[in-house]
Amino acid sequence: MLVNLKKILSEAKKGGYAVGAFNCPNFESLRAIIDAAEEMHAPVILNHAQIHEELIPIEVIGPLMVKYAKEAHVPVCVNLDHGTTFDMCMKALRVGFTSVMYDASGEPYKKNIDQTKEMVRICHAVDVSVEAELGHIFVSENGVGEAPKKIETACNSDVSSMYTDPDLARDFVEKTGIDALAIAFGTAHGIYTVKPVLDLDRITAIKKKIDIPFVMHGGSGLSEKEFRTAIQNGIVKINYYTYMTMEGAKAVKSRIAEKNDGEPIFFHDLSLCATKAMKENVKEAIRIFSMK
Ligand SMILES: [Zn+2]
Repeated sequence: MLVNLKKILSEAKKGGYAVGAFNCPNFESLRAIIDAAEEMHAPVILNHAQIHEELIPIEVIGPLMVKYAKEAHVPVCVNLDHGTTFDMCMKALRVGFTSVMYDASGEPYKKNIDQTKEMVRICHAVDVSVEAELGHIFVSENGVGEAPKKIETACNSDVSSMYTDPDLARDFVEKTGIDALAIAFGTAHGIYTVKPVLDLDRITAIKKKIDIPFVMHGGSGLSEKEFRTAIQNGIVKINYYTYMTMEGAKAVKSRIAEKNDGEPIFFHDLSLCATKAMKENVKEAIRIFSMK
């Protein structure tokens, strides 16, 4: 069933678990995510990242995401990930998404507040939730996907000054009225080339100031222990994609390698093979996030 982010995250907060948000820039990943959630009897969030518009536009994949969400036996939220423009967010509403992550975090603080507040006003009028970001979530060296504008800032010297400030977080949430806050505490989008140093206590420090659902971006690639601590400290939505799509590619690569020279290879076979591998990876993520 299709639900909004506020609903899916309030249940998670009560239950002490986190909901995975997985990107679906193709039909294979969409099926993998929905099948995994159904099998695990777990709620799930389908993400369409604005940066993936070049892979598949929201007008094409969006209606399918909404259709699968409506038909699922588990709660499913359909979310625009890192919507950086007003137009893109409006497209998400038109397609029937139930959540928008509006990312004005690259703007000066005051402008981030003003623009996010306006987005909240529009989205709440049609029962769509809003997630926003404060602080800088880095893009790692081989980052695929999101928010490339932040890569330069990651190279600057004082990294912790890019993390979410607890007092600012309270001010930001109170002034904008957002439903969930993406916080920066050391995770990065993309592939981790070096082990990330996470400031997991920062989540607790922010929670003491403002108690709303917190979101971790750059989730894939962390250890089970790191996920569990982050969830215990207050993370209820985890964006996870890179390692899932790499699993799909790995499965395709080995399927091709199994073939003898001259033996035919069919794309539909590779497509199914990738879907299965991504489904298993998503199931494992859901198992960890469910805290069972
Ligand atoms: Zn992100």
